[in-house]
Amino acid sequence: MKKRLFTPGPTPVPENVMLSMAAPIIHHRNPEFMEILQRVHENLKYLFQTTQPVVVLSCSGTGGMESAISSIFREGDKVIAINAGKFGERWGELVRLYTGGCIEETVPWGRAIEPGRLKELLREHPDAKGVCLTHSETSTGTAADIRALSAVIREESDALVLVDGITAIGAHEFHFDDWGIDICITGSQKGLMMPPGLALIAVSERAQDVINAAEDSAKNFYLSLAKALKAHSGDDTPFTPAVSLVIGLDEALKMIRQEGIETTWARHESLAAACRAGCTALGMELFSTSPSFAVTPVWLPEGVEWNAFNKALKYSNGITVAAGQDDYKGKIFRISHLGYYDELDMLTIVGAMERALKEIGYCFPVGAGVTAVQQAFLGR
Ligand SMILES: *Cc1c(COP(=O)(O)O)cnc(C)c1O
Repeated sequence: MKKRLFTPGPTPVPENVMLSMAAPIIHHRNPEFMEILQRVHENLKYLFQTTQPVVVLSCSGTGGMESAISSIFREGDKVIAINAGKFGERWGELVRLYTGGCIEETVPWGRAIEPGRLKELLREHPDAKGVCLTHSETSTGTAADIRALSAVIREESDALVLVDGITAIGAHEFHFDDWGIDICITGSQKGLMMPPGLALIAVSERAQDVINAAEDSAKNFYLSLAKALKAHSGDDTPFTPAVSLVIGLDEALKMIRQEGIETTWARHESLAAACRAGCTALGMELFSTSPSFAVTPVWLPEGVEWNAFNKALKYSNGITVAAGQDDYKGKIFRISHLGYYDELDMLTIVGAMERALKEIGYCFPVGAGVTAVQQAFLGR
């Protein structure tokens, strides 16, 4: 059976990217590798829309988040973290670990923080040293208006703007420099069409100054952004990088450059809209009030049991989707269209959902979902 991933990490890897990683290993101090890393650094700037350094760490996205928090903040620093789901919650956990506290603002799942509410928080805490945001909250499939939120922070305070862009980069319009972002992180197994194992972090000049000034008191070593930034300036890494993954990333970034980042963003927006149309046509309700372009969360319809539906998808159709998390386990599920997906993939996932629903006895007009997807792309 042909297996297909529709999960928001890991995501499918194109064949040319896989093949590039199968070549014999090269040494990371060879000019051949340095040249690749240099090109990767350049293309990462394009991806994040920045002239600032974007460092490559050999760890998953969470390692990137920990690297940022542990390199920037110290015990006693006041940091605001917005928790609108699993990954916002993770920001709070990391902040508490490295500063001893956290001003945590909880937002109901499926909604995004309003810029007005963030303004109030900043006025309550004018001494905040940083604000941690999530651009696309993967657990709830919800996108926040990072441009507006960052503008509010820059207007109201000197706090650094930290963005978890792990499922947003490549899927949502993003301008690191123009929007005044200080830290943005993504991971290789999300919008970059790569296997897991790399975290990419863009670092503003303001953030670099803080990181370099505080280097000696940082409670980190392998995850030190100060070390990574120093090495980056010579197109190098402080430790042995995940050589094969960097070679694959080079190939994946070339693909994004070739498509053009604006086209990549527009493709995700259009795939997300078609996916929502297909689900709605099958009688399923959408979960988020501010849908992400990376992942679509959907309520399981009345009478559809998650385990049975998931098994029918996986074992009869080779399809993997993502379950709901925490309170929403068994209530919602999530379909990803992040990275290497096209319009025909949306017909596949919605067609597979129809097959699985039919198998478990859920009543709906066969073809309604697929028709809605076709119409979303082709018109009526
Ligand atoms: C996947 C994800 C993470 C965690 O990344 P890992 O690579 O699993 O460590 C963090 N934030 C968001 C928004 C994610 O989607």
